[in-house]
Amino acid sequence: MSLFIIITGLVLLIAVPVLIGMMVYKDAKNRGLEPWFWALASMLVPYFIGLIIYLVARSNRKRLRCARCGQTVEAGYNVCPQCGEPLQYTCQACGMPVQPQWNVCAKCGAAQPQGRTALVTNATAEDDPGKRIWIMIGCAVGAVVLLALVGISAFAIVGAI
Ligand SMILES: [Zn+2]
Ligand SMILES: [Zn+2]
Repeated sequence: MSLFIIITGLVLLIAVPVLIGMMVYKDAKNRGLEPWFWALASMLVPYFIGLIIYLVARSNRKRLRCARCGQTVEAGYNVCPQCGEPLQYTCQACGMPVQPQWNVCAKCGAAQPQGRTALVTNATAEDDPGKRIWIMIGCAVGAVVLLALVGISAFAIVGAI
């Protein structure tokens, strides 16, 4: 019985951080944050401190949205992947993507129209607060469960000796 508890505890001790790391990796990648950095931070910094810091960092991160359909887009996209709306201006002469504030094309030097504004809207209010609270509660419950398992495992190991 005690061996079963030790094995279960050890599996969970490895499986829980790996699962968190995978989730953070995917989420960070979607948001254009450094995926490996945040995955490792949330896995390796003890007591979920890395994960909590990541959740705070991601909630402050502004996301770009397509002005037409609202789809989340990244700064490097030329068109919206959902509706095909152009997200960057292109040079009429050579087709290279140009920044709205450029006077001339960086590639061919052709003059660009003035007074352009960015094509994507910058959304500020991202996650709805309700969702974030549930994530925090989930983390807290996870932390308690993990600490309890560590306690049980330690107790079982001590008891076995
Ligand atoms: Zn769109
Ligand atoms: Zn050009």
